[in-house]
Amino acid sequence: MDFSLNKYEDEFQSSLTNRLSKLLPQDWGDKSFIINNTDSEWKKIAKNVTNDLSKDRLLTQAWPEEYGGIGASHLKQAVFNHILSYINAPLNNMTGVNWIGPALMMYGNKEQKELYLPRIAEALDQWCLLYSEPTAGSDLASLQTRAVKNGDNYIINGQKIWASNAEDANFGLVAVRTNPDAPKHKGLSTLIVPMDSAGISINPIKDINGKESLNEVFFDNVQISSKNIVGEENRGWYQMASSLDYERSGIATFSTAKRNLEKLIDITKLIPEITENKKSYREDIANHWIEMNTGFNLAIKIPLLQDRGINPTYESSISKLYGTELTQKIAQTSIQLLGTHGQLKKNQGMFEVSEKYLAAIASTIAKGTSEIQRNTIARQGLGLPR
Ligand SMILES: Cc1cc2nc3c(=O)[nH]c(=O)nc-3n(C[C@H](O)[C@H](O)[C@H](O)COP(=O)(O)OP(=O)(O)OC[C@H]3O[C@@H](n4cnc5c(N)ncnc54)[C@H](O)[C@@H]3O)c2cc1C
Repeated sequence: MDFSLNKYEDEFQSSLTNRLSKLLPQDWGDKSFIINNTDSEWKKIAKNVTNDLSKDRLLTQAWPEEYGGIGASHLKQAVFNHILSYINAPLNNMTGVNWIGPALMMYGNKEQKELYLPRIAEALDQWCLLYSEPTAGSDLASLQTRAVKNGDNYIINGQKIWASNAEDANFGLVAVRTNPDAPKHKGLSTLIVPMDSAGISINPIKDINGKESLNEVFFDNVQISSKNIVGEENRGWYQMASSLDYERSGIATFSTAKRNLEKLIDITKLIPEITENKKSYREDIANHWIEMNTGFNLAIKIPLLQDRGINPTYESSISKLYGTELTQKIAQTSIQLLGTHGQLKKNQGMFEVSEKYLAAIASTIAKGTSEIQRNTIARQGLGLPR
Protein backbone atom coordinates (compact mmCIF):
# COMPACT_ATOMS: atom_id res chain seq x y z
CA MET A 1 0.00 0.00 0.00
CA ASP A 2 1.14 3.54 -0.73
CA PHE A 3 0.21 5.69 2.26
CA SER A 4 1.56 9.00 1.00
CA LEU A 5 -1.12 11.66 0.96
CA ASN A 6 0.32 14.03 -1.66
CA LYS A 7 -0.21 11.49 -4.40
CA TYR A 8 -3.99 11.68 -3.92
CA GLU A 9 -4.24 15.23 -2.70
CA ASP A 10 -2.95 16.91 -5.86
CA GLU A 11 -5.68 15.46 -8.02
CA PHE A 12 -8.47 17.75 -6.90
CA GLN A 13 -7.01 20.03 -4.25
CA SER A 14 -6.96 23.13 -6.45
CA SER A 15 -10.59 22.84 -7.59
CA LEU A 16 -11.84 22.34 -4.05
CA THR A 17 -9.66 25.11 -2.62
CA ASN A 18 -10.95 27.39 -5.37
CA ARG A 19 -14.57 26.55 -4.56
CA LEU A 20 -14.01 27.16 -0.85
CA SER A 21 -12.28 30.48 -1.43
CA LYS A 22 -15.55 31.78 -2.94
CA LEU A 23 -17.51 30.67 0.13
CA LEU A 24 -15.17 31.78 2.90
CA PRO A 25 -14.45 35.38 3.97
CA GLN A 26 -11.30 36.84 2.39
CA ASP A 27 -9.54 37.04 5.75
CA TRP A 28 -10.39 33.42 6.60
CA GLY A 29 -6.70 32.45 6.74
CA ASP A 30 -6.23 34.59 9.88
CA LYS A 31 -9.78 34.50 11.18
CA SER A 32 -9.97 30.70 11.13
CA PHE A 33 -7.49 30.61 14.03
CA ILE A 34 -9.54 32.85 16.31
CA ILE A 35 -13.19 32.14 15.46
CA ASN A 36 -15.21 29.71 17.59
CA ASN A 37 -17.79 27.23 16.35
CA THR A 38 -20.44 28.67 18.66
CA ASP A 39 -20.04 32.22 17.22
CA SER A 40 -22.99 33.36 15.11
CA GLU A 41 -20.58 34.35 12.32
CA TRP A 42 -19.14 30.81 12.29
CA LYS A 43 -22.66 29.33 12.15
CA LYS A 44 -23.59 31.56 9.20
CA ILE A 45 -20.47 30.63 7.23
CA ALA A 46 -20.94 26.95 8.13
CA LYS A 47 -24.47 27.00 6.74
CA ASN A 48 -23.28 28.46 3.41
CA VAL A 49 -20.33 26.08 3.07
CA THR A 50 -22.36 23.00 4.07
CA ASN A 51 -25.24 23.88 1.73
CA ASP A 52 -22.92 24.55 -1.17
CA LEU A 53 -20.92 21.32 -0.81
CA SER A 54 -24.08 19.30 -0.09
CA LYS A 55 -25.71 20.47 -3.33
CA ASP A 56 -23.26 18.14 -5.05
CA ARG A 57 -23.39 15.58 -2.20
CA LEU A 58 -19.67 16.03 -1.62
CA LEU A 59 -19.75 15.46 2.15
CA THR A 60 -21.24 12.01 1.56
CA GLN A 61 -19.51 11.26 -1.72
CA ALA A 62 -18.48 7.72 -0.71
CA TRP A 63 -22.09 6.71 0.04
CA PRO A 64 -23.89 4.62 -2.60
CA GLU A 65 -25.66 6.78 -5.18
CA GLU A 66 -29.17 5.61 -4.28
CA TYR A 67 -28.66 6.80 -0.68
CA GLY A 68 -27.24 10.23 -1.33
CA GLY A 69 -23.65 9.62 -2.36
CA ILE A 70 -21.91 9.82 -5.71
CA GLY A 71 -20.14 6.48 -5.45
CA ALA A 72 -16.66 7.98 -4.85
CA SER A 73 -13.96 5.91 -3.18
CA HIS A 74 -13.44 6.14 0.59
CA LEU A 75 -9.95 7.38 -0.16
CA LYS A 76 -11.28 10.32 -2.17
CA GLN A 77 -13.70 11.14 0.65
CA ALA A 78 -10.85 11.07 3.18
CA VAL A 79 -8.64 13.33 1.08
CA PHE A 80 -11.60 15.70 0.63
CA ASN A 81 -12.12 15.75 4.42
CA HIS A 82 -8.40 16.41 4.87
CA ILE A 83 -8.50 19.45 2.58
CA LEU A 84 -11.59 20.84 4.34
CA SER A 85 -10.03 20.44 7.78
CA TYR A 86 -6.68 21.87 6.72
CA ILE A 87 -8.52 25.05 5.69
CA ASN A 88 -10.67 24.75 8.84
CA ALA A 89 -13.79 25.06 6.66
CA PRO A 90 -16.80 25.27 8.99
CA LEU A 91 -19.49 22.59 8.52
CA ASN A 92 -22.74 22.07 10.40
CA ASN A 93 -24.11 18.72 9.31
CA MET A 94 -21.47 16.33 10.56
CA THR A 95 -23.50 14.32 13.11
CA GLY A 96 -25.83 13.32 10.28
CA VAL A 97 -22.97 12.61 7.88
CA ASN A 98 -20.63 10.76 10.27
CA TRP A 99 -22.98 8.97 12.66
CA ILE A 100 -26.63 8.85 11.66
CA GLY A 101 -26.14 8.20 7.94
CA PRO A 102 -23.87 5.17 8.46
CA ALA A 103 -26.25 3.74 11.13
CA LEU A 104 -29.30 4.12 8.85
CA MET A 105 -27.41 2.71 5.89
CA MET A 106 -26.52 -0.41 7.86
CA TYR A 107 -29.76 -0.98 9.77
CA GLY A 108 -32.53 1.28 8.48
CA ASN A 109 -35.35 -0.20 6.38
CA LYS A 110 -35.80 0.71 2.71
CA GLU A 111 -38.30 3.47 3.49
CA GLN A 112 -36.05 5.08 6.12
CA LYS A 113 -33.00 4.96 3.85
CA GLU A 114 -34.88 6.48 0.93
CA LEU A 115 -36.44 9.17 3.08
CA TYR A 116 -33.62 10.31 5.37
CA LEU A 117 -30.27 9.56 3.69
CA PRO A 118 -30.59 11.87 0.66
CA ARG A 119 -31.83 14.61 3.01
CA ILE A 120 -28.70 14.19 5.18
CA ALA A 121 -26.52 14.22 2.06
CA GLU A 122 -28.15 17.44 0.87
CA ALA A 123 -28.04 19.06 4.34
CA LEU A 124 -31.82 19.44 4.48
CA ASP A 125 -32.01 18.07 8.03
CA GLN A 126 -29.88 18.54 11.12
CA TRP A 127 -29.50 15.48 13.37
CA CYS A 128 -28.31 14.82 16.89
CA LEU A 129 -27.14 11.61 18.52
CA LEU A 130 -28.98 10.76 21.75
CA TYR A 131 -27.03 7.83 23.19
CA SER A 132 -25.22 8.97 26.37
CA GLU A 133 -26.94 9.30 29.75
CA PRO A 134 -25.71 10.60 33.10
CA THR A 135 -24.82 7.04 34.14
CA ALA A 136 -24.20 5.49 30.71
CA GLY A 137 -21.33 6.65 28.48
CA SER A 138 -18.60 4.09 27.86
CA ASP A 139 -20.93 1.47 29.29
CA LEU A 140 -23.77 2.39 26.95
CA ALA A 141 -25.52 -0.91 27.57
CA SER A 142 -26.52 0.28 31.04
CA LEU A 143 -28.73 3.08 29.69
CA GLN A 144 -32.06 3.62 31.42
CA THR A 145 -34.28 5.64 29.04
CA ARG A 146 -37.38 3.50 28.53
CA ALA A 147 -39.56 3.04 25.45
CA VAL A 148 -42.80 1.16 26.09
CA LYS A 149 -44.91 -0.15 23.21
CA ASN A 150 -48.42 1.30 23.19
CA GLY A 151 -50.43 0.25 20.11
CA ASP A 152 -48.61 1.59 17.05
CA ASN A 153 -46.38 3.86 19.15
CA TYR A 154 -43.58 3.82 21.69
CA ILE A 155 -43.84 6.06 24.75
CA ILE A 156 -40.37 7.31 25.74
CA ASN A 157 -39.34 8.52 29.20
CA GLY A 158 -35.84 9.35 30.40
CA GLN A 159 -32.84 11.64 30.10
CA LYS A 160 -29.98 11.96 27.63
CA ILE A 161 -26.85 14.06 28.07
CA TRP A 162 -23.92 15.54 26.09
CA ALA A 163 -26.02 15.70 22.93
CA SER A 164 -23.97 17.86 20.54
CA ASN A 165 -25.96 20.52 18.67
CA ALA A 166 -29.34 19.15 19.77
CA GLU A 167 -30.56 22.75 19.93
CA ASP A 168 -30.30 23.05 16.13
CA ALA A 169 -31.43 19.51 15.26
CA ASN A 170 -34.78 18.57 13.76
CA PHE A 171 -34.21 14.82 14.17
CA GLY A 172 -32.45 12.68 16.75
CA LEU A 173 -31.46 9.02 16.91
CA VAL A 174 -32.22 7.90 20.46
CA ALA A 175 -31.04 4.73 22.20
CA VAL A 176 -33.72 3.29 24.51
CA ARG A 177 -34.41 0.24 26.65
CA THR A 178 -37.30 -1.71 25.14
CA ASN A 179 -36.97 -4.86 27.26
CA PRO A 180 -36.04 -4.19 30.91
CA ASP A 181 -36.20 -7.91 31.77
CA ALA A 182 -33.55 -9.06 29.27
CA PRO A 183 -29.77 -9.00 30.03
CA LYS A 184 -28.60 -5.40 29.60
CA HIS A 185 -27.10 -5.82 26.10
CA LYS A 186 -30.20 -7.56 24.82
CA GLY A 187 -33.01 -5.13 25.62
CA LEU A 188 -31.97 -2.00 23.68
CA SER A 189 -33.32 -0.40 20.50
CA THR A 190 -32.76 2.80 18.53
CA LEU A 191 -35.55 5.10 17.33
CA ILE A 192 -35.74 8.13 15.06
CA VAL A 193 -37.35 11.05 16.91
CA PRO A 194 -38.51 14.38 15.45
CA MET A 195 -37.02 16.87 17.92
CA ASP A 196 -40.20 18.98 17.95
CA SER A 197 -42.24 16.05 19.38
CA ALA A 198 -44.40 16.96 22.38
CA GLY A 199 -42.63 16.07 25.65
CA ILE A 200 -39.02 16.67 24.47
CA SER A 201 -37.17 19.45 26.27
CA ILE A 202 -33.60 20.58 25.72
CA ASN A 203 -31.37 22.14 28.31
CA PRO A 204 -28.00 23.59 27.19
CA ILE A 205 -24.84 22.72 29.16
CA LYS A 206 -21.94 25.17 29.30
CA ASP A 207 -18.68 23.52 28.26
CA ILE A 208 -15.27 24.19 29.81
CA ASN A 209 -14.98 27.37 27.68
CA GLY A 210 -18.42 28.59 28.73
CA LYS A 211 -19.86 27.83 25.26
CA GLU A 212 -23.20 26.10 24.77
CA SER A 213 -22.97 23.33 22.18
CA LEU A 214 -23.77 20.35 24.42
CA ASN A 215 -27.22 19.58 25.82
CA GLU A 216 -29.30 17.53 28.16
CA VAL A 217 -32.42 16.19 26.43
CA PHE A 218 -35.41 15.09 28.50
CA PHE A 219 -38.18 12.75 27.33
CA ASP A 220 -41.48 13.08 29.15
CA ASN A 221 -44.08 10.65 27.74
CA VAL A 222 -42.89 11.29 24.19
CA GLN A 223 -45.01 9.38 21.68
CA ILE A 224 -43.11 8.07 18.63
CA SER A 225 -44.49 5.86 15.85
CA SER A 226 -43.17 2.30 16.00
CA LYS A 227 -42.36 2.73 12.28
CA ASN A 228 -39.42 4.84 13.51
CA ILE A 229 -37.54 1.91 15.01
CA VAL A 230 -34.20 1.39 13.28
CA GLY A 231 -33.41 -2.28 12.68
CA GLU A 232 -34.73 -4.97 14.98
CA GLU A 233 -36.29 -4.33 18.38
CA ASN A 234 -33.90 -5.29 21.21
CA ARG A 235 -30.92 -5.65 18.83
CA GLY A 236 -29.93 -2.01 19.33
CA TRP A 237 -26.73 -2.73 21.24
CA TYR A 238 -25.24 -4.82 18.44
CA GLN A 239 -26.33 -2.25 15.86
CA MET A 240 -24.83 0.65 17.81
CA ALA A 241 -21.56 -1.20 18.34
CA SER A 242 -21.10 -1.99 14.65
CA SER A 243 -22.25 1.35 13.26
CA LEU A 244 -19.84 3.14 15.62
CA ASP A 245 -17.08 1.21 13.84
CA TYR A 246 -18.01 2.78 10.53
CA GLU A 247 -15.69 5.27 8.80
CA ARG A 248 -13.43 6.64 11.51
CA SER A 249 -10.30 7.50 9.54
CA GLY A 250 -9.75 10.47 11.85
CA ILE A 251 -7.76 12.16 9.09
CA ALA A 252 -9.22 15.58 9.97
CA THR A 253 -7.42 15.49 13.33
CA PHE A 254 -4.04 15.30 11.60
CA SER A 255 -5.00 17.98 9.04
CA THR A 256 -5.85 20.29 11.96
CA ALA A 257 -2.58 19.31 13.67
CA LYS A 258 -0.68 20.27 10.51
CA ARG A 259 -2.33 23.68 10.19
CA ASN A 260 -1.88 24.45 13.90
CA LEU A 261 1.79 23.43 13.86
CA GLU A 262 2.45 25.53 10.75
CA LYS A 263 0.81 28.53 12.43
CA LEU A 264 2.87 27.96 15.57
CA ILE A 265 6.08 27.80 13.52
CA ASP A 266 5.14 31.04 11.69
CA ILE A 267 4.46 32.89 14.95
CA THR A 268 7.70 31.60 16.45
CA LYS A 269 9.61 33.09 13.52
CA LEU A 270 7.60 36.32 13.62
CA ILE A 271 7.95 36.93 17.36
CA PRO A 272 11.25 35.26 18.30
CA GLU A 273 11.19 36.71 21.83
CA ILE A 274 8.43 34.23 22.80
CA THR A 275 10.99 31.45 22.59
CA GLU A 276 13.32 33.01 25.19
CA ASN A 277 13.95 30.65 28.11
CA LYS A 278 11.97 27.91 26.35
CA LYS A 279 14.79 25.59 25.46
CA SER A 280 12.78 22.51 24.54
CA TYR A 281 10.38 24.17 22.11
CA ARG A 282 12.34 23.14 18.97
CA GLU A 283 12.39 19.56 20.11
CA ASP A 284 8.68 19.64 21.03
CA ILE A 285 7.61 21.09 17.68
CA ALA A 286 9.86 18.68 15.76
CA ASN A 287 8.42 15.74 17.70
CA HIS A 288 4.84 16.85 17.00
CA TRP A 289 5.70 17.26 13.33
CA ILE A 290 6.93 13.66 13.19
CA GLU A 291 3.85 12.47 15.09
CA MET A 292 1.56 14.40 12.74
CA ASN A 293 3.14 12.70 9.71
CA THR A 294 2.94 9.31 11.40
CA GLY A 295 -0.72 10.04 12.10
CA PHE A 296 -1.48 10.69 8.43
CA ASN A 297 -0.08 7.25 7.64
CA LEU A 298 -2.34 5.67 10.27
CA ALA A 299 -5.41 7.57 9.06
CA ILE A 300 -4.98 7.04 5.32
CA LYS A 301 -4.72 3.30 5.86
CA ILE A 302 -8.39 3.21 6.91
CA PRO A 303 -10.04 4.33 3.64
CA LEU A 304 -7.54 2.21 1.71
CA LEU A 305 -8.76 -0.83 3.68
CA GLN A 306 -12.41 0.14 3.17
CA ASP A 307 -11.91 0.48 -0.56
CA ARG A 308 -10.71 -3.13 -0.48
CA GLY A 309 -13.92 -4.18 1.30
CA ILE A 310 -12.25 -4.58 4.71
CA ASN A 311 -14.04 -3.06 7.73
CA PRO A 312 -11.42 -1.29 9.87
CA THR A 313 -12.13 -1.68 13.58
CA TYR A 314 -9.02 -1.42 15.74
CA GLU A 315 -7.29 0.61 12.99
CA SER A 316 -9.84 3.39 13.56
CA SER A 317 -9.19 3.20 17.31
CA ILE A 318 -5.43 3.58 16.76
CA SER A 319 -5.99 6.66 14.61
CA LYS A 320 -8.51 8.18 17.06
CA LEU A 321 -6.31 7.56 20.10
CA TYR A 322 -3.11 8.79 18.47
CA GLY A 323 -4.77 11.84 16.87
CA THR A 324 -6.62 13.11 19.93
CA GLU A 325 -3.61 12.65 22.21
CA LEU A 326 -1.52 14.57 19.66
CA THR A 327 -4.17 17.34 19.65
CA GLN A 328 -3.65 17.72 23.39
CA LYS A 329 0.15 17.69 23.12
CA ILE A 330 0.13 20.41 20.44
CA ALA A 331 -2.30 22.51 22.52
CA GLN A 332 0.02 22.17 25.50
CA THR A 333 3.16 23.14 23.55
CA SER A 334 1.27 26.08 21.99
CA ILE A 335 0.07 27.50 25.29
CA GLN A 336 3.52 27.14 26.86
CA LEU A 337 5.13 28.88 23.91
CA LEU A 338 2.61 31.67 23.21
CA GLY A 339 1.71 32.36 26.84
CA THR A 340 -0.31 35.57 27.17
CA HIS A 341 -0.13 36.24 23.38
CA GLY A 342 -2.40 33.24 22.87
CA GLN A 343 -4.94 34.38 25.42
CA LEU A 344 -5.93 37.65 23.79
CA LYS A 345 -9.40 37.37 22.27
CA LYS A 346 -9.82 38.00 18.54
CA ASN A 347 -6.13 38.82 18.23
CA GLN A 348 -5.84 38.99 14.42
CA GLY A 349 -2.75 37.22 13.06
CA MET A 350 -2.45 35.21 16.28
CA PHE A 351 -3.52 31.74 17.29
CA GLU A 352 -6.00 31.82 20.17
CA VAL A 353 -4.69 28.82 22.05
CA SER A 354 -6.22 29.17 25.50
CA GLU A 355 -9.68 28.08 24.25
CA LYS A 356 -8.14 25.41 22.03
CA TYR A 357 -6.17 24.10 25.00
CA LEU A 358 -9.31 23.74 27.11
CA ALA A 359 -11.39 22.35 24.23
CA ALA A 360 -8.70 19.72 23.53
CA ILE A 361 -9.47 18.06 26.87
CA ALA A 362 -12.79 16.79 25.48
CA SER A 363 -11.18 15.25 22.39
CA THR A 364 -10.02 12.13 24.25
CA ILE A 365 -13.51 11.68 25.76
CA ALA A 366 -15.93 12.37 22.88
CA LYS A 367 -16.56 9.50 20.41
CA GLY A 368 -15.14 6.97 22.88
CA THR A 369 -12.46 7.63 25.50
CA SER A 370 -8.78 6.78 25.08
CA GLU A 371 -9.16 3.88 27.52
CA ILE A 372 -12.01 2.43 25.45
CA GLN A 373 -9.90 2.80 22.27
CA ARG A 374 -7.03 0.96 24.01
CA ASN A 375 -9.43 -1.83 25.01
CA THR A 376 -10.51 -2.17 21.36
CA ILE A 377 -6.90 -2.22 20.13
CA ALA A 378 -5.98 -4.82 22.78
CA ARG A 379 -8.92 -7.11 22.06
CA GLN A 380 -9.60 -6.72 18.35
CA GLY A 381 -6.13 -5.74 17.19
CA LEU A 382 -3.90 -7.83 19.41
CA GLY A 383 -6.34 -10.62 20.31
CA LEU A 384 -5.68 -10.18 24.03
CA PRO A 385 -8.26 -11.75 26.38
CA ARG A 386 -10.81 -9.52 28.20
C1 LIG B 1 -17.47 17.16 23.34
C2 LIG B 1 -18.33 15.95 23.56
C3 LIG B 1 -19.37 15.71 22.67
C4 LIG B 1 -20.21 14.60 22.86
N1 LIG B 1 -21.27 14.42 22.02
C5 LIG B 1 -22.14 13.41 22.24
C6 LIG B 1 -23.31 13.27 21.43
O1 LIG B 1 -23.56 14.05 20.50
N2 LIG B 1 -24.18 12.27 21.74
C7 LIG B 1 -23.95 11.37 22.74
O2 LIG B 1 -24.76 10.46 22.92
N3 LIG B 1 -22.84 11.48 23.54
C8 LIG B 1 -21.94 12.48 23.30
N4 LIG B 1 -20.84 12.63 24.13
C9 LIG B 1 -20.66 11.72 25.26
C10 LIG B 1 -19.50 10.75 25.08
O3 LIG B 1 -19.83 9.74 24.16
C11 LIG B 1 -19.18 10.18 26.47
O4 LIG B 1 -18.75 11.26 27.29
C12 LIG B 1 -18.09 9.14 26.43
O5 LIG B 1 -18.55 7.97 25.77
C13 LIG B 1 -17.61 8.76 27.85
O6 LIG B 1 -18.69 8.45 28.65
P1 LIG B 1 -18.85 9.13 30.09
O7 LIG B 1 -18.72 10.60 29.93
O8 LIG B 1 -20.10 8.60 30.71
O9 LIG B 1 -17.59 8.64 30.94
P2 LIG B 1 -17.42 7.21 31.62
O10 LIG B 1 -17.81 6.15 30.66
O11 LIG B 1 -18.12 7.24 32.94
O12 LIG B 1 -15.86 7.16 31.83
C14 LIG B 1 -15.18 7.74 32.96
C15 LIG B 1 -13.74 7.27 32.93
O13 LIG B 1 -13.68 5.83 33.10
C16 LIG B 1 -12.97 5.23 32.05
N5 LIG B 1 -13.56 3.95 31.69
C17 LIG B 1 -14.89 3.68 31.52
N6 LIG B 1 -15.06 2.39 31.17
C18 LIG B 1 -13.83 1.83 31.08
C19 LIG B 1 -13.35 0.53 30.75
N7 LIG B 1 -14.20 -0.44 30.41
N8 LIG B 1 -12.01 0.33 30.74
C20 LIG B 1 -11.14 1.33 31.09
N9 LIG B 1 -11.55 2.58 31.43
C21 LIG B 1 -12.87 2.83 31.42
C22 LIG B 1 -13.13 6.21 30.87
O14 LIG B 1 -12.10 6.02 29.91
C23 LIG B 1 -13.06 7.55 31.57
O15 LIG B 1 -11.72 7.91 31.82
C24 LIG B 1 -19.97 13.70 23.95
C25 LIG B 1 -18.91 13.94 24.82
C26 LIG B 1 -18.09 15.05 24.64
C27 LIG B 1 -16.97 15.30 25.59
